[in-house]
Amino acid sequence: MSIISDRLKAVNPSQTLVISAKARALKAQGKDVISLSAGEPDFNTPENIGRAGINAIQAGQTKYTDVGGTMELRQAVANRINQDSGTDYKAEEIIVSNGGKQVIYNAMMASLNPGDEVIIPAPCWVSYPDIVTLAGGNSVIVPCGVESGFKLTATKLKAAITPKTKWLILNSPCNPTGVAYSPEELRALCDVLLDHPNVWILTDDIYNKLVYNDFICQTIVQVEPGLRDRTVTMNGVSKAYAMTGWRIGYSAAPVELTKAMSKLQGQSTSNPCSISQAAALEAVAGPQDSIKQMVAIYQKRRDIVVSMLNQAPGLECITPQGAFYAFPSIKGCLGKTTKAGAKIVNDEAFVTALLEETGVAAVHGAAFMMEGFFRVSYATATETVKEACTRIQHFCMNLS
Ligand code: GLU
Repeated sequence: MSIISDRLKAVNPSQTLVISAKARALKAQGKDVISLSAGEPDFNTPENIGRAGINAIQAGQTKYTDVGGTMELRQAVANRINQDSGTDYKAEEIIVSNGGKQVIYNAMMASLNPGDEVIIPAPCWVSYPDIVTLAGGNSVIVPCGVESGFKLTATKLKAAITPKTKWLILNSPCNPTGVAYSPEELRALCDVLLDHPNVWILTDDIYNKLVYNDFICQTIVQVEPGLRDRTVTMNGVSKAYAMTGWRIGYSAAPVELTKAMSKLQGQSTSNPCSISQAAALEAVAGPQDSIKQMVAIYQKRRDIVVSMLNQAPGLECITPQGAFYAFPSIKGCLGKTTKAGAKIVNDEAFVTALLEETGVAAVHGAAFMMEGFFRVSYATATETVKEACTRIQHFCMNLS
């Protein structure tokens, strides 16, 4: 009999991490690999933030902190969210965890009973459904295709809600599509949610500072303060401040749930790294201009990627408003054969052949609950992104 629990057997490994690890391994073998698979900024953590981490070590801030983060950091996080979104969160509503992923995990584990349903618009980030499964809930995947700009509509939301619905997970800008909801689109969703007082909302805002062409990116509680007492506003420093390895995520949520999440964290990981907390404090409370510089570069890359992918025969790519992802359709490539003789039967076959024949690593759409697409992360040096897109173009041109 296997040692592995039934609970874990039902869970898939994170495909973004699996494919990124595969690309790293091929590179280590000396292969010419360009990885567009990881959603991870190529920039270094800004100097002032790194310095705060070094200072923390030198000042001996190397001990346990409060489980949910130091009071100073929680206050600074509340201030940051309030300043960005016009909300009025207090420090006791904040928990700081080991990355945004742990925040979501805490929230689901702290709230789901067997059979509870969680509405997840798809395409969605790979980890949402599996976290729900781990926590004993049932994911209700709502396909939101390219025809609706990959976005959940009020009609689709209404149709997905049942008496068992406990959560809606919303992610704007979205991983893997990069699309973001306008304030009007959020308003329409809020109106449905106001009619269903038992449904909670987890809004994953981790990419909300990475938006282009002056897109106005708001969060649920900003659009409808009446939903504040059943919303988890989640964010973190990983993407906006190029701090993926520091592992700091956080949320603002009603005190009862925040305390429950903290209880769970206290029995699993305890506090997030004290040094990372000191760096995160500088990130959220210090100067914010490094974000602008990174956003300007991402925007240029987005334009290059979208334009180059649309020039590849068989691919079609909508222009995303934010994050650092593009999510092209491979519809025009399906059924064709690659130069090396592989048959493109689906998106997984497409990315597998792409990696083997061109060295470009990307993640297939099915991993994000939407077949027929693949995700490209352009958080990679501009010249490398261009080279990768050129290889993708040649790959597509050679299909027959
Ligand atoms: N969120 C990033 C991605 O989607 C990092 C990897 C992960 O945790 O999924 O690639």
